[in-house]
Amino acid sequence: MGLLSDALSRVQPSATVGITQRARQMAQAGADIIALSAGEPDFDTPEHVRKAAIAAIERGETRYTNVDGIAELKEAVAAKFRRDNGLDVTAQDCFVSSGGKQIIFNALMATLNPGDEVVVPLPYWVSYPEIVRLAGAEPVFAEASQATGFKLTPETLEAAISPRTKWLLLNTPSNPSGAAYTADELKGLAEVLLRHPHVYILTDDIYEVLVYDGRSFATIAEVEPRLLARTLTMNGVSKSHAMTGWRIGYCTGPREILAAMLKLQGQSTTNPTSISQWAAVEALNGPQAFLLEWRDVFQKRRDYVVARLRGCKGLECLVPEGAFYAFPSCAALLGGTSAGGRKIATDEDFVMGLLEENGVALVHGTAFGLPGHFRISYAASDSDLERAMDRIEAFCAGIV
Ligand code: PLP
Repeated sequence: MGLLSDALSRVQPSATVGITQRARQMAQAGADIIALSAGEPDFDTPEHVRKAAIAAIERGETRYTNVDGIAELKEAVAAKFRRDNGLDVTAQDCFVSSGGKQIIFNALMATLNPGDEVVVPLPYWVSYPEIVRLAGAEPVFAEASQATGFKLTPETLEAAISPRTKWLLLNTPSNPSGAAYTADELKGLAEVLLRHPHVYILTDDIYEVLVYDGRSFATIAEVEPRLLARTLTMNGVSKSHAMTGWRIGYCTGPREILAAMLKLQGQSTTNPTSISQWAAVEALNGPQAFLLEWRDVFQKRRDYVVARLRGCKGLECLVPEGAFYAFPSCAALLGGTSAGGRKIATDEDFVMGLLEENGVALVHGTAFGLPGHFRISYAASDSDLERAMDRIEAFCAGIV
C-alpha cells in the first residue's frame, strides 16, 4: 500500500509554479532574471480596500463567519452581477470562497463522478484539467487554436459534447491567450448548448475588467438568459483589484450546486478569511473608476509587448483582446540551435533556453495544452518589459 492517494497520482504539479520557482532559484543564486511567468497585477491593493481591512480588524471581525460568506459580501456580489452583468440574481444565489480557484475546485469536486466528461477548450488555464482529473472525471479537449483567434467555434463545441458531458469550462478573457469572446460569439456557443440541456457551463470571468480597444465584456448567462439556470458564473477580486494574496473569489449559480459546494467547503476550509471578506465588500461596493485607469496601463503594455514580439525573428503573435497575457507562436524557430548551443526542438526547450541563457522566465505553450507557443505575462513594470523584450529579441535572433 503506497503512502500517497491514487487521486493525487492523476494530477500534474502546476507548470507555472514550476518555472517561477526555477527563476527564483536562479535569482537567489545571483542571476539577473526577469520573471514574466506569473499572472498577477504589479499594482498595490487600493488604499480604500486596505483601510477597510484594517477597520475590520479593529472592529473585531476576526471570527468564523458563514461558510459561504458574510451577508454583506454576498449582497455586494449579487449587486455586482446585477450591475455589471445583467444577471437576475440575489444574495441567496451567490457564494464566496478562498479565491476563484476554490470556487472551481468546489464546483467540480461537488458534481463530478468517474466517467463524467468536462469539455475544456485548449489552450486552457493549467488548473482546469487537473481539477477535473482529481475529481475522477475526464477532460475532453476542444481545440481553440490561433486559426480561430484561440476561440471555440460552435462546430468544435458540438463535436466535443457527448451524453457523458457534465460541464463546459469557458474562460473569457482567457489565460493564456488573452482571447475575449464577443456577445455574438457567445450567442453562437449558446445555441449549441441550448440543444444539449444536460450540459452545465462554468464560466471563469476573473479577467472581466481587462478587455481592450473599447470592447465590452460579455458573459454567457447574460447573452442567453435561458442558460442562467445551468451556468455557474465565477469571478473574483484577485486580478481586478490587485488582491491575489487576499484569496477571495465568488460566483453565482444554481442553488443545488451552491448547496453541494457549501457542504464541501464546510468540511474543508470553512469560511474565507473574515478580514479579506470585508476588504472585498469595499472592493465591490467602493469606487471603481481606477479600474479603467489600470486597464489603460495594461493596454499600453500589451501594445508595446505585441509590437516587440512581432519584431522578433520567427515569432508570430495575435493581438490579445484582454487579460494580461500574449500567446505567441515560436513554431518557426523549432528545430534550430540557440546561440548557447542548445537544441530548440520544443516550446519547452525554447523557454528553458531563454531562461538559462538570457534570463527571462516565460511559460511554454504545452503547459496550456498547445505546443509551439509560449505565454508571456505583461503584468510587469515598463522597464522590466523593455529589458525582457530586448533579451527575447536577442535570444530569437541567435537561433539558427
Ligand atoms: N482563473 C484563471 C483563468 C486564472 O488565471 C487564475 C489565476 O491565475 C484563477 C482563476 C485563480 O484566481 P484566484 O487567485 O482568485 O484563485
